[in-house]
Amino acid sequence: MRFTEKVLKDPVHDEIVVDDPWIWDLINTAAVQRLRRIRQLGTSYLTFHGAEHSRFTHSLGVYETMRRVLAAFKRQSGWPENPREQKLALAAALLHDVGHGPFSHTFETVYPIHHEEWTRRILVEDAEMAAVLAEVDSDFASDLIGILGKRGNYRTVEQLITSQLDVDRMDYLLRDALHTGVNYGRFELGRLIRSLVLADGDVLLRESGIHTAEQYILARYFMYTQVYLHPVTIGSDVLVGNILRRAGELWEAGELQQTPSFLQALFLDQGDVSVEEYLAIDESTLLYAFRVFAGVKDPVLSDLACRFLNRRLFAPIVRAEPSPEEWAALRTAARAMGFHPEYYISGRYAAVSAYVYRGSGIPVLLTDGTKSELSRESRLVRSLIPDKEYRLFLPKEMVEGDHPMVERVQSILYGTGRSQPL
Ligand code: ZN
Repeated sequence: MRFTEKVLKDPVHDEIVVDDPWIWDLINTAAVQRLRRIRQLGTSYLTFHGAEHSRFTHSLGVYETMRRVLAAFKRQSGWPENPREQKLALAAALLHDVGHGPFSHTFETVYPIHHEEWTRRILVEDAEMAAVLAEVDSDFASDLIGILGKRGNYRTVEQLITSQLDVDRMDYLLRDALHTGVNYGRFELGRLIRSLVLADGDVLLRESGIHTAEQYILARYFMYTQVYLHPVTIGSDVLVGNILRRAGELWEAGELQQTPSFLQALFLDQGDVSVEEYLAIDESTLLYAFRVFAGVKDPVLSDLACRFLNRRLFAPIVRAEPSPEEWAALRTAARAMGFHPEYYISGRYAAVSAYVYRGSGIPVLLTDGTKSELSRESRLVRSLIPDKEYRLFLPKEMVEGDHPMVERVQSILYGTGRSQPL
C-alpha cells in the first residue's frame, strides 16, 4: 500500500511532517510510544502545573527541527547527498531520548546506569526497534549509537544532535516555555535555522545570526534559572530519590512484599535488568508504585510516598552549605521531631551555565570568511558567567509551625531571630 504523508499537529512547530514510511514505523515502536508516559520535565509539573508534556512530543519536535535544518542545508549546499545520512540524522533526532526513565534525572542519581546507556541498549536489544533499524542496513543501529555517543564518524549530524546549538535544545526550550507558561524561553526558531551554515562539515552560525543566537542563549539562561532549577522542583526530585532509596533498602531487607513484580527491576542490580524490564518502568508504573508504598507498614516510606502524591513537598532553603556542626545539629533536631535525617534532610548544588566558553563554544562564520566564537563576538553571551547555588531541603514542619523545635531549626539555618524559608 502506498504511504500517505502524515502531518501531525504540534503546539510548537504547528505541523510535524512524516513523509518517510520508515520514520512512521520508528514512531510506532513500543519503545518510542512509551515516551508518552514519561514527562519531559520530570517533577516540574508540581511547580508549573502546565508542564505535563511528554518526552514523546519533544522527540517528535526534535525530529521536525532536524527535518527543517536538513531541508535548509540541502537547499544551501546540497548536504546531505546520501539518503542514508538523512535517515541517520532524523532517527538520531527521534530516538535521542528513548532511554529516559521516569523522573529521569532523579532516576539516574539513584540507579547508576544513565539514560544514554539505556538508549544504546534499546537500539540493539529491543527486538522490534532493532528490526526497524535493520531495515536500512545491518550497520545502521551501530552508526546511530556512534552519532549519539559523538564518536566522530558523522561530524555534522553529531553537531546537530549534541552541541550548544543543537536541535534538541531548540525544541525543548520552546516546548518547555510554552507548557510551563513562561515567556522568557522564546526565540525565533526559523531565523536561527536560517542563520546556520555548513563549512567543511562543521555547523557554524553566520555573523548576521548573532542576535538571534543571543536570544536563544538568554532563553536557555532564563529557563535554567526560572524553570529547570526551580527550588520546588529540585525538592520534588529529592523526594522521589529518597522514596526510591528507602524502598530499595526495604526490598533488599525482605520488608517490601507488596512491590508489584514489574517494579522489582527497580531494585535489582541495574546491570542485570533486561531492556524489556526497563521499558516496563515509566511514570505510570512508578506512580502506581508510590500509591502502593503509601500504604506500607514502614512509616518513612509510607510518609514520603504520601508527601509526593499529595504534594506536601520539602521546603527549599537557599543558603550556604551547612558546616559539619550545623549538619549534626540539624540531624539531632530532625530526630527530635520524628524525622529520619537520612530521608528528610538533603542538600544540593544547582549549577547554571547558559553558555560554555571553553572547548565547545558556538563557532561563528564572520562576513570576511574568518571563524570566531560566539562569546568573543557577543558582550551579552560573555556576561553569562556560570554560577551555582546551594539549597537545603527539609520538611516544612521543621521550619514553620508550632513545634517547639522550629525555633531551634531556624536558628541553625539563619542564626537567631531571622526566618526566611522560600
Ligand atoms: Zn531531548
